[in-house]
Amino acid sequence: MTAPVAQSMSKQDIIEYLRKVHISPTTQRVEMAHLLLSKPQHISAEEVYNLVNEEYSKASRATVYNNLHLFERAGLIKSLNISPVLTVYDTNTTPHFHFVDTETGRIRDIECDTDTMNKILETALQCEDLEQSKAQVTGLQLIFYGKE
Ligand SMILES: [Zn+2]
Repeated sequence: MTAPVAQSMSKQDIIEYLRKVHISPTTQRVEMAHLLLSKPQHISAEEVYNLVNEEYSKASRATVYNNLHLFERAGLIKSLNISPVLTVYDTNTTPHFHFVDTETGRIRDIECDTDTMNKILETALQCEDLEQSKAQVTGLQLIFYGKE
């Protein structure tokens, strides 16, 4: 199932989408998803937790983290491992790459045309190790690191 474009979702859209993917649209989940999807962003679970508790009634860390996992499984957001100690959630679920500024920590989307993306994927899939292992590849993340 293809997720709708997150940024254009109203609370009603979110309720309908959650129902469609068999997630109960509790008030807290709908508010959290709406807050999260209000703009394109890369945001850590801890930042989501702080944001939710600034805007709405208290939500426990466990609830926020569980909802993030549910939203990811439902295709509303994607997780992105920036480093071994930093995972962020991306509200842009369309295929794209990232650039991380190593001085500021800023994460920026790198949009790329489909042909170029497919060429990169095809090239990466030719790695001998990968071919020999007969691994079933389900995704590829490409993160550029540097200074802007
Ligand atoms: Zn992104």
